[in-house]
Amino acid sequence: MQIIYDPSDTLDISDYGIDIPISFNNARKTTELLTEDYRKSAENKAGEKAGENRRMASLPSWYHTELDPPPGTRELSAVHDPAYIGRLLDGGTNLEKEIIRTFELVDEDGNYNRYSPDSAGKNLEELFAVILRRGGGSAKAARLALEKGSAFYFGGGFHHAHYSFGSGFCFYNDMLAAREMLSSPGDAPLTWIIDIDAHKGDGTAELVQRMNEQEDRSVIDLSIHMAQGWPLDLKRIPPGYDADPAWIPAALDIPVFTHAQDQYLPLLRKGLEDMEAMSLKRWGRKTPELAFVVAGADPFEEDELPSTQLLKLSRSTMLERNRLVHGFLMERNIPAAYVQAGNYGNNSWKVYYDFLSELQARER
Ligand SMILES: [Zn+2]
Repeated sequence: MQIIYDPSDTLDISDYGIDIPISFNNARKTTELLTEDYRKSAENKAGEKAGENRRMASLPSWYHTELDPPPGTRELSAVHDPAYIGRLLDGGTNLEKEIIRTFELVDEDGNYNRYSPDSAGKNLEELFAVILRRGGGSAKAARLALEKGSAFYFGGGFHHAHYSFGSGFCFYNDMLAAREMLSSPGDAPLTWIIDIDAHKGDGTAELVQRMNEQEDRSVIDLSIHMAQGWPLDLKRIPPGYDADPAWIPAALDIPVFTHAQDQYLPLLRKGLEDMEAMSLKRWGRKTPELAFVVAGADPFEEDELPSTQLLKLSRSTMLERNRLVHGFLMERNIPAAYVQAGNYGNNSWKVYYDFLSELQARER
C-alpha cells in the first residue's frame, strides 16, 4: 500500500473560527507510527550495524509527501455545474458565501452556527485553497493505485458536494475530479466508488445519477451508511431541485439502522458482490478499472462528531470492515485508491493505523 501524507497540510479548522472537531492530528499520528514501525524493522534487519541504520531510516519507498497538482476549471466543471465552480474559483464574497453554506456556518434564522468569525486568525479563502490542494492528493492516490495496485491518501473523500452547491464540509467531488485529471475527456476509467463513511455519499449519488442521465455509465457507486440522521434529515429543497437531493439513491445504497449494526459486515459483503453482478450486467465485465474507497473512520464508536452517533462500530469491526473491502479488491486485482473522508476527534488514528500497519508489515 502506497501512503500519501502531505506534512505541510496542517489544517486546523479552529483557526478559521469554526467549531467542528476536524483535526489533522490523526493523519499525522498514523504516519508517524507507520514510519516508526518501518524504522524499527529496518534496524532489526540491519542487526548491530548502528551506523548504517540511520541511513536506512530515511523515508520508506511507499511513503509519499508530494501531491499532484490540484484539479482545475476543466476537471471540476466536467463534474459540477460550471457556474458553481466559477463562484468557487473566482474567490471573494462569492466564495465566502459558498464556504458559509458548505460548512453550515449560519442557521435557518440567520445566526452563526458553530462559527465565531471574531476568533478567526485566518480568512475563509485560505481554507478553500487548502481543500482544493487536497484534490491533487486524491488524484495522486488514483494514479499510484493504477501504477502499483493500491494507495491511501490522508485527505479527500468529499462525497457530500452536490452538482451546484457544497454541503457537509465538501466543495467538490475529488474522486470524480481525479478521474478527469487522469484521462482525456470522455475516456475516464470504469470506476467503482465504495463509500464506507458513516454518512451517505449523497453528493456522489447525485453526480453519478446525472452522468447516467447523460449516457455516461462508467461509474458504479455503493454507499453503506447510517439509515437515519444527517444528511438524510436535512429536509431541504435547494433552488433548481424538485426534492431533497440527499435522498438521491446510489447505484447500491445500504442503509444500516442502529439496532441492526451487528449486520454491518455481512451487508457490506453482499453489497460488494452485488456491485460485481451489476458491473457484469452493465459493462460485460465483473470488475472496474479503478476503485475509490471513501474510507471514513467515523462509523467508529470513538468518533466525536454528534451526527455519527447512530453508528458505533467497535475497533475490531472497523478493522474487519477495512480487511473485507481491501481483500475483495486485491483478490480481483482491482487498483484501489483510498481517500480518508470523515474522522472526528482524536481517536480515529486507531482505525487507520490498525488497517495500514497490518498491510505494511505483510509487505516487509
Ligand atoms: Zn462522514
